[in-house]
Amino acid sequence: MITFSGNPLDRTAARRDDEAWLAERRANGRVLALHEGKPLMRGDELAWLDGAGNNALFLGMDGETAVFAVETDDARDGEFRELRAVALLLPADEAAIVAAAKSLFEWHARHRFCSNCGHATTVFSAGWKRVCPSCAAEHFPRVDPVVIMLPLRGDRCLLGRQFAWPKGRMAPLAGFVEPGESIEEACAREVQEEAGLSARHVTYHASQPWPFPSSLMFGLFVEVEGEGIPDGVELEEVRWLTRDEARSMLDGRHPDLLAPNRYAIGQVLLTHWVEQT
Ligand SMILES: [Zn+2]
Repeated sequence: MITFSGNPLDRTAARRDDEAWLAERRANGRVLALHEGKPLMRGDELAWLDGAGNNALFLGMDGETAVFAVETDDARDGEFRELRAVALLLPADEAAIVAAAKSLFEWHARHRFCSNCGHATTVFSAGWKRVCPSCAAEHFPRVDPVVIMLPLRGDRCLLGRQFAWPKGRMAPLAGFVEPGESIEEACAREVQEEAGLSARHVTYHASQPWPFPSSLMFGLFVEVEGEGIPDGVELEEVRWLTRDEARSMLDGRHPDLLAPNRYAIGQVLLTHWVEQT
């Protein structure tokens, strides 16, 4: 399972505008509390609340139970913790629910005003739409596509390190898809821009919802030609690794390299490649 995917809720999108149906379910609903993207925890477990107010966002159904989310600064007897810090402590299905709620709240926080006319907008559809009362434009939660790819040449893969990262931390290359690009074209542009590599063949592997704040990562392998030279703008360093070197990095045994974050799809790509013989 890829972290942040596998949300078990039935989103029940057809009921998002059914106020009578929602009202019945709010009273007995389970509520996820977040503050500035941080879930409310008690110890290492999510602190679910009972009963949803009218402003709670409807995330979907867990069997017969409706699940909602609220933005609040009331920590009660729990503690708001960074999602990055608890992503691997939570059961995978709960991490996916938190990720969906976090992305939704961050979209609301950044889209309070109409991008068409500038008027304040109003929440509709139990949190899945904002509507402008002035120009009637409808705004929907955004997902930004990102390509993340492991460049391969012969029996080696290439990893890069951004300037801001800790020394030794390496990961596959990544970048936002631009308007008018296919996934393959975005991948080819990014490996050329960041490492001077020419893409020859792109293979899709898997995707990951990435709630920082709301991306969808397309995980790819790309056969490349070229030496691999860091651009000096985004990447400070690139390195070609054999499977043995990558394996020791993933196992924490490499003398000077640190693997990608364990909850990131970069780790999934690297692990998949290492396990191929
Ligand atoms: Zn407007």
